[in-house]
Amino acid sequence: MGYKMYPKDYANYIRRAYEKIHSEKDYLSELDAATGDGDHWANVNMGFSKLVEQIPELETMPFDTMFQKIAMTMMTVIGGSSGVLYASAYMEAGNFLRDKAYIDCETMCAVLDAMLRGIMRRGNAAPGMKTMVDTLNAAVLCYQACLNERMDENKLLDQVKAAAYQGQQSTIQMEAVRGRAYYQSNKGVGHLDPGAVSMYYQIESLVDEIKSSCFA
Ligand code: ADP
Ligand code: MG
Repeated sequence: MGYKMYPKDYANYIRRAYEKIHSEKDYLSELDAATGDGDHWANVNMGFSKLVEQIPELETMPFDTMFQKIAMTMMTVIGGSSGVLYASAYMEAGNFLRDKAYIDCETMCAVLDAMLRGIMRRGNAAPGMKTMVDTLNAAVLCYQACLNERMDENKLLDQVKAAAYQGQQSTIQMEAVRGRAYYQSNKGVGHLDPGAVSMYYQIESLVDEIKSSCFA
């Protein structure tokens, strides 16, 4: 049997992602201090803590309304670039989820792909520019390849998580083309991109939530 993620499970994922992000205050702040302005943790933590407050409402909504609400919250609560970018991700994926009662393994691949396209369009970004896109793109490419191979879903999820981690790590040697690191003399080379790391935490939390509670 394959997995099915319902709105309530997605709300639990939000809580899980918040807890992970919340616990990485020093690390994420230091990463953004090295190549940006140091506020990345404060931005994403603020966004996710607001979403956690909204869980009682979010978990009762169908996916398309829920994702629209998440997008609005991200946009209004997060001051930095990441707020607008996450909002674009959720707007794009929300459209895709109209009329869907649950997200299964194939649908999730399309959801992540829609999020990726939303971020790339809004940020005028592509893979290789040292941003959150590098993590999400690696996850989506791996997800698509695993689906093509008809891989066991548990194994697929492990691979997607590992690919997201590799995507995050790949930003160390990249020269920034987007984001504040672009304005550094060495374009951030030698440092992880903070947005790529927080994106990894989100994919890790998503995979862990699905594995722990979405298989029948
Ligand atoms: P700000 O850069 O406004 O301070 P944050 O610190 O919250 O915002 O987020 C910075 C992260 O946003 C970067 O590490 C990078 O991953 C991501 N980012 C910035 N600009 C773009 C862009 N144009 N496209 C995609 N991602 C971007
Ligand atoms: Mg910043």
